[in-house]
Amino acid sequence: MAFEYAPAPESRSVVDIRASYGLFIGGEFVDGSGGRIKTVNPATEEVLAEVAEAGSDDVDRAVAAARTAFDQVWGPMPGRERAKYLYRIARIVQERARELAVLETIDNGKPIRESRDVDVPLVAAHFFYYAGWADKLRYAGFGERPLGVAAQVIPWNFPLLMLAWKIAPALACGNTVVLKPAETTPLTALAFAEICQQAELPPGVVNIVTGAGETGRLLVEHPAVDKVAFTGSTEVGKQIARSVAGSRKRVTLELGGKAANIVFDDAPIDQAVEGIVNGIFFNQGHVCCAGSRLLVQESIAGDLLDALKRRMALLRVGDPLDKNTDVGAINSAVQLERIRRLSEIGDAEGAERWTAPCELPDRGFWFAPTVFTGVSQAHRIAREEIFGPVLSVLTFRTPAEAVEKANNTPYGLSAGIWSEKGSRILAVADKLRAGVVWANTFNKFDPASPFGGYKESGYGREGGRHGLEAYLDR
Ligand code: NAD
Repeated sequence: MAFEYAPAPESRSVVDIRASYGLFIGGEFVDGSGGRIKTVNPATEEVLAEVAEAGSDDVDRAVAAARTAFDQVWGPMPGRERAKYLYRIARIVQERARELAVLETIDNGKPIRESRDVDVPLVAAHFFYYAGWADKLRYAGFGERPLGVAAQVIPWNFPLLMLAWKIAPALACGNTVVLKPAETTPLTALAFAEICQQAELPPGVVNIVTGAGETGRLLVEHPAVDKVAFTGSTEVGKQIARSVAGSRKRVTLELGGKAANIVFDDAPIDQAVEGIVNGIFFNQGHVCCAGSRLLVQESIAGDLLDALKRRMALLRVGDPLDKNTDVGAINSAVQLERIRRLSEIGDAEGAERWTAPCELPDRGFWFAPTVFTGVSQAHRIAREEIFGPVLSVLTFRTPAEAVEKANNTPYGLSAGIWSEKGSRILAVADKLRAGVVWANTFNKFDPASPFGGYKESGYGREGGRHGLEAYLDR
């Protein structure tokens, strides 16, 4: 009997999306003075809601609300009291987990399996983790004095998780924040604003201003901001570094990446294939630390690529709300165009393209899982971040060559090593210029573990004890 696929879609009825949203300033939703932005479901192109585009007056108001809350309430509050709010937020995130996961999937396009099992649990974990630090700052070794008002700007690939990475340590250390979510994914940040109300967080401690790049620029350049935390592209990160240079503002930048996933000839092939797939197709490859360059030892390249293609042919691409979906929608038409353009450059450079056989939906933004072989270091697809489900494969003969190729990039965020030998893993990891190195696994995240880059992947660390340093004044 032929197998007929039965979809298992998660219900949308758990989310209640308003037609229109204001800005969250001083504990309340208020009207913005600027224009409006539409946010769409990238899997269907349906308009989900309109959000405010914050202008200069709105950013002024938000920063002023954060300053007042810092001076009068949050700054002077003992750490053990701040911790209670963070615990409360963490518990509400858990209680509303299903709703947040569906909302994230609808607004971002990522599979529900990931928003439900990865993003939202990690969001709660971050708040729990930093709640634990709030009354123990003196033991962290970075002082106990908060900086003041933090301006935080985040991208669209992990909207709620990036918010948690930014807000949880800032609040634990006693800072107040004004956060700007990405223009294509504002909805979970606005749901988080409701969670702040539900947790009875004092007004002004968290402010959310929606808008596009101009709103972000107004926020990070605001003279009354003490700290800038940015996650996004290297290009915008450089602009921000230039604009705050010479000011008293402290800055952390989490930027792009082009990670090498290095597979040695003694690696367990099936396990490595799972790691390669997870490394580049998790979240449609919209991952700053994605393993977008596969470096495979020449002697096993043929077998490994055959196994990889067999596995890729099984990936289920489609409706992000279907619980069986492995690869969802590309976040926006703009991002889809970038992925297409760079892939065509790969064709023109002479690399060989292989695409997983799959049927793509008619509406929405989609790109089938793709592998390029015959890639050399000089190719742009080996050097530039594609930020999509596209893997470039290079080969190497010796560990020294693997290290040389892995480090031959302006980025330095992450890397993966696959080998049976612990001594080889340690020797290679030691020579890699990457903030995070995974061994026989990939894309593992934990709030206790610091994350951040070398070179053009940025500076500063988020997560763990190290993540406190960015928000404290020694
Ligand atoms: P982007 O830099 O275009 O946008 C990121 C955010 O910055 C958005 O909120 C945007 O509105 C805002 N922004 C744009 N111009 C600005 C300006 N001049 N001043 C202030 N804010 C501005 O990046 P993107 O395309 O949204 O995100 C993808 C990039 O983010 C990739 O390069 C990816 O590697 C990187 N990223 C890095 C990490 C990390 O932790 N290192 C995590 C996620 C994404």
